[in-house]
Amino acid sequence: MTIVRESFPVGPLQCNCTVLGNTETGSGYVFDPGGHPERIMEVVASFGLKIEALVHTHAHLDHILAAAEIQNLTGASVCLHPDDRWLWDALESQCKMFGIPYHPAPAPDHWLDDEEPLRCGNGVCIHTPGHTPGSMSFYFADEGLLLAGDTLFLGSVGRTDLPGGDTGQLKESIQRRLYTLDENTLVIPGHGPGTTIGDEMRQNSFVRATP
Ligand SMILES: [Zn+2]
Ligand SMILES: [Zn+2]
Repeated sequence: MTIVRESFPVGPLQCNCTVLGNTETGSGYVFDPGGHPERIMEVVASFGLKIEALVHTHAHLDHILAAAEIQNLTGASVCLHPDDRWLWDALESQCKMFGIPYHPAPAPDHWLDDEEPLRCGNGVCIHTPGHTPGSMSFYFADEGLLLAGDTLFLGSVGRTDLPGGDTGQLKESIQRRLYTLDENTLVIPGHGPGTTIGDEMRQNSFVRATP
């Protein structure tokens, strides 16, 4: 199996979008299509992939703004954890709050579950609520890769002061579900530079590894 991946910032809030696919089967996923649909489709084309699914770490506007356009172009399934459905449905008011033009997003047609396997790259969904109730992380053990959304950042963690945020839950998600992964795992957060699980366990001053 030959897995290809590119992660790059898109959209008004520079959300890290990831294109991941298998060049043998030609099937791929787009994680967090937060903007710049042309750029995303360029990366997809450069790998020669057919996009099967748009997979969202959560339903904040900056992670979903290009979902409609890419769904139109590819016919891909739109995936979200059901606990973020209310946020997805409130996209218009999210856009108003940030002063960003509103374009409707397609309704999700696949609801993600905790520990659900992702066919592409042997991945698995990990439900990591806290930043939002339906926040998901996506772990690819073979690749040593975690897409953490806005749950865990380099030296920081996701904010919990927005509607639906919960600091206790965020801490528990990180300690129980993420700090228990292989320490060498590369973490691609929702924004900013990458890190590793081990570095965050040792150096993250917001959420420490359990003693
Ligand atoms: Zn967010
Ligand atoms: Zn974000």
